[in-house]
Amino acid sequence: MDLNNNRYTIQNVDIQSIADEFGSPVYVYDADKILSQYQLLKTSFPGDHVKIKYACKALNNLNVLKLLKSVGCGLDVVSIQEAEMGIRAGFAPNEILFTPNCVSFEEIKMGIELGITINIDNISILEQFGHAYGNTIPCCIRLNPHIVAGGNVHIQTGHIDSKFGISIYQLRHVLRIVEKENIKVTGLHMHTGSDILDSDVFLRGAELLFDAANDFKDLEFIDFGSGFKVSYKDGDITTDVVELGKAITIRFNQFCQDYGRKLELWFEPGKFIVSEAGYLIVKVNVIKQTTATVFVGVDSGQNHLIRPMFYDAFHDIINISNPLGTPRIYTIVGYICETDTFGWDRKLNEVREGDLLAIKNAGAYGYTMANNYNARYRPSEVLVYRGKANLIRQRETLEDLLRNVVDIPIGD
Ligand SMILES: *Cc1c(COP(=O)(O)O)cnc(C)c1O
Repeated sequence: MDLNNNRYTIQNVDIQSIADEFGSPVYVYDADKILSQYQLLKTSFPGDHVKIKYACKALNNLNVLKLLKSVGCGLDVVSIQEAEMGIRAGFAPNEILFTPNCVSFEEIKMGIELGITINIDNISILEQFGHAYGNTIPCCIRLNPHIVAGGNVHIQTGHIDSKFGISIYQLRHVLRIVEKENIKVTGLHMHTGSDILDSDVFLRGAELLFDAANDFKDLEFIDFGSGFKVSYKDGDITTDVVELGKAITIRFNQFCQDYGRKLELWFEPGKFIVSEAGYLIVKVNVIKQTTATVFVGVDSGQNHLIRPMFYDAFHDIINISNPLGTPRIYTIVGYICETDTFGWDRKLNEVREGDLLAIKNAGAYGYTMANNYNARYRPSEVLVYRGKANLIRQRETLEDLLRNVVDIPIGD
């Protein structure tokens, strides 16, 4: 987002005009930013053997999937529905990695029928998989190295009590099952959680995975998951992917030499690719002065962006309608009958009723976590692509909310 002549723009498209045309609240995504984040990863981890699998639970609008497909990115999905959306967006099944957690074996079978790569995350499924398919279908195994990383306890996946992956301490048992059931393991995977702050954490996990890899003879790839952190506010430490890229590349090449074969190196970032590209544009309904606080009440809430309330996440908020207004302190809240605060004690250029605010870093886990609480419609989505604002999802209507309700005779 740029500020030119007191107008906030994305690729020279005025954000005010986007809200005028498509209404508010609206999620606006900058395709250029998505692509430049993808390119930054590609250049930080050079080589044809590196595959980026976009973790689409962060933002799964079909057009965003098509955008990433158009530049050669792969896909990481966590449900059969995401897999089906990926295929609709044009991904070949073999470009899709299916990394579900605690799903039924039925769902795994559906994934196999689609032809996508299965990432197995518990011993029970590994046994059933081996029993059903032996070595006829290759698979990946998700190991949990118990490296603790991640910004908020809800997004940590590596700790000892985590439900994700198969504990590295169960490796002996995994190997027994693999051997007895003759399972062809072509990939090893770890994902230690979102918001990894330093390369050392990554590398510690990597060493454990390399160690384990020596026990698997059919490997074709190692998948280091994600956790690349982006900046939510000034002074935030972000994952230095350039530095991480250098460190991992050297170590990975060494490992491949020891292993005896050149393997592929996979990553599956979600947030890193789309977070900063997205803005939730909301309109100010009321300014409400109480004895203690000046509230700015907007036409959106935790039903549209749950991260502040759910993860205590900080999202920068700016007033795009009054860039020269005198800065004042506000608490920005939603319209849901529930405490739904977007930001406490924030300094914004003077806010007036009717102004548009932009909530930043809303590309990841924004729309995909939105819901219809209070019977509110989910927002529309706009993708600014090649200098033009394109509506990529309509705002919902009352019919959408009622579509699956079965009306039965009551009281007649
Ligand atoms: C959610 C998830 C990701 C993406 O995490 P980000 O923090 O958004 O990059 C990657 N891999 C798996 C298996 C996931 O569940």
